Amino acid sequence: DQNITSHFIKSIIDGDMKTGKFDGRVGTRFPPEPNGFLHLGHAKSICLNFGMARQFNGTCNLRFDDTNPAKEEQKYVDAIIKDVGWLGFDWGDTVYYASDYFEQLYDFAVDLIKAGNAFVCELTFEQMREYRGTLTEPGKESPYRNRSVAENLDLFERMKAGEFDEGTHALRAKIDMTSPNINLRDPVIYRIKKMPHPRTGDAWCIYPMYDFTHCISDALENITHSLCTLEFQDHRPLYDWILDRLDVPCHPQQIEFARMNLNYTIMSKRKLQTLVNNHLVEDWDDPRLPTLAGIRRRGYTPRAIRNFCATIGVSKKESRIDMGLLENVLREDLNETANRVMGVINPLRVVIENWPEDTVEALDAVNHPQKPEMGQRQVIFSREIYIEQEDFMEDPPKKFFRLGPGREVRLRYAYFITCKEVVKDDAGQISHLICTYDPATRGGDAPDGRKVKGTLHWVSEQGSIPARVRLYDRLFSTEDPEADGEDFINDLNPDSLVCLENARVEKSLAQATAENVVQFERLGYFCLDAKDSTPNLPVFNRTVTLRDNWAK
Ligand code: ATP
Ligand code: MG
Ligand code: MG
Repeated sequence: DQNITSHFIKSIIDGDMKTGKFDGRVGTRFPPEPNGFLHLGHAKSICLNFGMARQFNGTCNLRFDDTNPAKEEQKYVDAIIKDVGWLGFDWGDTVYYASDYFEQLYDFAVDLIKAGNAFVCELTFEQMREYRGTLTEPGKESPYRNRSVAENLDLFERMKAGEFDEGTHALRAKIDMTSPNINLRDPVIYRIKKMPHPRTGDAWCIYPMYDFTHCISDALENITHSLCTLEFQDHRPLYDWILDRLDVPCHPQQIEFARMNLNYTIMSKRKLQTLVNNHLVEDWDDPRLPTLAGIRRRGYTPRAIRNFCATIGVSKKESRIDMGLLENVLREDLNETANRVMGVINPLRVVIENWPEDTVEALDAVNHPQKPEMGQRQVIFSREIYIEQEDFMEDPPKKFFRLGPGREVRLRYAYFITCKEVVKDDAGQISHLICTYDPATRGGDAPDGRKVKGTLHWVSEQGSIPARVRLYDRLFSTEDPEADGEDFINDLNPDSLVCLENARVEKSLAQATAENVVQFERLGYFCLDAKDSTPNLPVFNRTVTLRDNWAK
């Protein structure tokens, strides 16, 4: 892996190690909410948190931030665990859940009440919003703000006991309704939600809010550096306010960094969920999505994703990253590791008229032109072969160096062939070509020194199997689909998926696995789709083209 790991957060931790803050210990965490699948943005956070722990010999916890039963599901927990492991990180023996702290969180809330730092409020949600004020106007204090501690304790306990309806009571921190930071204007820290939780069942009908849960979970786990995205910068004073008032084992330092944004796609679980729910994509693992499950199915390697995260670095400046950069990092990785094979995705039949009927020949083909250690295989030549429709033109311009009537080309690893005749069906469509081969050119060179400009990939009838091939293009046709808010669906690219039903691939691919990406020569990198392939018809997804197609 590349190891570009100097950034401002590393510098901060370096400094803390020198001054002995946190006793020279580093503890980080990755805290996803299990309300969807992880995406590439999460990969940035995962690489950062696990990466810092690894560099400083510390620990990184995997913690589910599962305090909102309305949106969270076990299937997302399972998917997230799988994805973090796939990316290559190890969280140790324990998976943490914020819901495991419900009891302690409740006790901490009681502590706040006892110290006069929290109160039960009976304003409605709408009233609270009105009272909150705006950026330019201070808020107004709730009429319930000055209840006695005893009254607050009684009401909070009755909230917990289920005596009140949703929306009628909430526990709020008592901070400052005139603060310029709206997060400090008596934020709600507990609300009533009469809904079972996937892990705690019916035990609770009040649930803690994110800002209250997160800092305490960090503290209880002895996290030292709580790394989060920039939108939480304005929440940091609240994070510190709460921990300053509670008897917790550790007061972690929150540090914010810029989210990863990629052009031509979206990275918000909520918006991805919209695509899934409306069947605009197949599911969370649709190979066009930036979800880790989607790009895994597409053929991305965990190493390429880690390298990409290292390449883009960590900073405080928001930016959109070009999809072309991600793909380049991926190509660099696959170029090293992928076996070269031949597949024809839009076949045109070619009959070699001077090749004897019922005779096949095995020819040597290298698996990687620069890496002999990756070995060889044999490809079968026969009288009937297939080339790419695109590689033939009936009336080619001069600069077309592929096949045309009377022209000669090289077939990779095989022979020179010359086109003698174009055979058409009744409708005038080309049905096949009749060619001759030159036996002296076996292996790809003419003893008389005769040159050809084009080398084509091909498969033979006997040496190939049918396959379905899927080509992908950008999922959205605009660079920033979120620019117009919720209208991102209108920006979906209608041509993001092209399915080719009649492809043929060399027989060695009957043994293909989803884990091993291969390069179809001249066409790009492809991987077997484990979900849709059948024993009779493998399905190959194009992972990425050979060259950058994103540049405008
Ligand atoms: P989403 O809006 O996609 O749901 P989120 O931030 O709500 O994102 P969480 O499950 O809370 O999702 O995220 C877990 C961690 O991953 C958080 O620490 C969050 O800051 C980080 N994270 C999420 N999206 C990105 C991103 N695009 N770039 C970097 N980090 C991210
Ligand atoms: Mg979140
Ligand atoms: Mg979210």
